[in-house]
Amino acid sequence: MRTGLALAGAALLAGSGLAVTATSVSAAPPSTPSNSLLAAAGAALENHARAVKGSPQDRYTVYSSKRDARGNGVVRYTRTHQGLRVYGGDLVIRVGADGAFTGSSVGLAKPLSLSVSPKVGTASARAAARKAFSGKVASVGKPELFIDASSGAPALAWETVVNGMAKDDQTPSRLHVVSDATTNAVRGSFDEIETVDGTGNSLYSGSVAIDTTPSGDAYTLVDPVRGNGRTCDLNNGTSTCTTFTDSDNVWGTGAITDRASAAVDAHFGAATTFDYFHDVHGRNGIFGNGTGVPSRVHYGNAYVNAFWDGAQMTYGDGTGNAKPLVALDVAGHEMSHGVTENVVPGGLTYSGESGGLNEATSDIFGTMVEFYANTTGDPGDYDIGEKIDIRGTGAPLRYMYNPALDGVSHSCWSTATNGVDVHYSSGVANHFFFNLAEGTGATAYGTSPICGAAEPVVGIGREKAEKIWFRALDTYFVSNTRYVNTAAPANTARAYSLSAAADLYGLCGTEYKAVQAAWTAVNVAGSDYCPTDHDFSVAISPGTVTLDRGETVTTNLATTVTNGTPETATLTATGAPAGVTVAFSPAEITAGESATVTVTTSETLGTGTYPITLTATTPSVAHSTILHLTVRSPQGCTAANDTDVAIPDNTTVTSSVELSGCTITPSSSSAVEVHIVHTYIGDLVVSLVAPDGSVYTLHDRAGGSTDNIDQTYAVNLSGESPDGTWTLRVQDTAAIDTGYLNSWSLSL
Ligand SMILES: [Zn+2]
Repeated sequence: MRTGLALAGAALLAGSGLAVTATSVSAAPPSTPSNSLLAAAGAALENHARAVKGSPQDRYTVYSSKRDARGNGVVRYTRTHQGLRVYGGDLVIRVGADGAFTGSSVGLAKPLSLSVSPKVGTASARAAARKAFSGKVASVGKPELFIDASSGAPALAWETVVNGMAKDDQTPSRLHVVSDATTNAVRGSFDEIETVDGTGNSLYSGSVAIDTTPSGDAYTLVDPVRGNGRTCDLNNGTSTCTTFTDSDNVWGTGAITDRASAAVDAHFGAATTFDYFHDVHGRNGIFGNGTGVPSRVHYGNAYVNAFWDGAQMTYGDGTGNAKPLVALDVAGHEMSHGVTENVVPGGLTYSGESGGLNEATSDIFGTMVEFYANTTGDPGDYDIGEKIDIRGTGAPLRYMYNPALDGVSHSCWSTATNGVDVHYSSGVANHFFFNLAEGTGATAYGTSPICGAAEPVVGIGREKAEKIWFRALDTYFVSNTRYVNTAAPANTARAYSLSAAADLYGLCGTEYKAVQAAWTAVNVAGSDYCPTDHDFSVAISPGTVTLDRGETVTTNLATTVTNGTPETATLTATGAPAGVTVAFSPAEITAGESATVTVTTSETLGTGTYPITLTATTPSVAHSTILHLTVRSPQGCTAANDTDVAIPDNTTVTSSVELSGCTITPSSSSAVEVHIVHTYIGDLVVSLVAPDGSVYTLHDRAGGSTDNIDQTYAVNLSGESPDGTWTLRVQDTAAIDTGYLNSWSLSL
């Protein structure tokens, strides 16, 4: 993961909608600059500041831009706020071929508003970062002040990079530690080094063709067809890497004893992954600019892992230096990290659910690379790392069709998913992808279980599934996209993959519905909806009714056929409180017809507003609407007194109201609304005195030094006669603090 972004074709755009300023251009992610596209997106950004949760103190910088085959444009931006980088503030603006705004992706739930003055200094931030690193620290970088909006409430924070070696003493680590600039608490961390494993022979692909470069009388393992990606030998060290050379251009023996055998796998893996993204997704290699990827083999001693560091691939030789981790799906996995971090500014944040999506993206494309190569030695499957025997048991590293088979990965989303290692939370999206491509239940590649009570899924095939996932990544995902996001439900993999499916195959088509079903089958729900064959809508008029307790009202429930032929609907009401009855006439209608809804309230019902859900259910589908019922007290049964009454120390004061002509029985939850201004409500005893002298204590010295009472008390007054004088009595029981009774009201 790289967070120090190189920015492309930069244009600064004021949130208030001012001019575009060109700044320097540096080597950068893929971008096909088009002035008209940038201008259209810039205008869309100006005009839709609310959609992207813009604040007047935000500034935006173009990160990348491209048009798809249909001419639709996608422009990605990074964001600063009051001059500080906003992590999780990146956004996507999409425009049609005509330049009109068609949509956006944004990770912020609302516009930023926070102080940018740190209370914690850099020395404390460095200390917190050092403490958060487990392993051997080599250096601790200079903290950078920024705004962390990657998850939860945005906060002013320090980002400190700690360099060193992970606990295995072989995997390099560049841990980015994010600490709160107000409290110095560590908010999170992620490693820039992305590995194949959570902890941590051609050998595998048989005889394969590779591209090399002539050099004098010999050849070097440099791929001239794919941006001069080279493969080199670390000689079981960790730094000096020597490019492989060969005199006859026949490389390796297929046996581990020839150092070039593992190099052939790595070189083949880099070439195949390059070709996969180029041929299937139209992307010019990993970096999008045609540059090849360096591959380093024979790293360290008995090193059982492989990693991507943002620039190159590194492979260990495995247990006993006998099982190099150069298998094709591993290579594809690692280099797909390179694609993800170049497409999305800063990559999908490598922690929490966004980290799970990052890992899953690598498993998905690593697997698709394996299918794409289709070698007899390593045919396609939905196991990850089945050739490298990383566990020494012969078992694969991960299983996409049922991730939980490894004992730690999540097959189904739960509230715990955000808290597990990214190599385990990836299971949810891996399982989704398998369901989408191959379906649930028994398949040629394994049996995919269904989570909960979801419906079975019929797969749409790999060719469509991989295109949907790539488009979701390329056109929609932002750095803090998640599985489930209650604060920003649009910023989810489900919503974005559905948009991608709609773009490619149509809204609510077979593919779209398969994406819905595949997510539902891994326990990721959504509010997205497609009409069924016999569909209808429900409306109620009036939708808000107000009545006195004991009264009856009617309202009209109407249905409208929206698709296909109508069916019979049964009408039901849920959520009504005791004391409210709802009747439908008739209770069954044919979709397209209306019914009268009669609501009856009892005399003892408490006052208040009650939402009641009215549902029409047909054999095909159910639709609901909400009736908002507001219940008042009848005339003569409510009264208020807003004359201020001072409350001196150690004194009892009263305020009264008169009721007359109230004919109902008071409610068992009559409302007494009290507003007292006081600096120490722990001094106060507040009571209601009925006309016959009965006393109901509302507040008895609770609350300590809390300011003021502003509360509505529900009191059972069903034994009282309503008419007469009702009194609110306030006793101050201690010295020093005083106040006054502002107002109160009674509703029987
Ligand atoms: Zn990975």
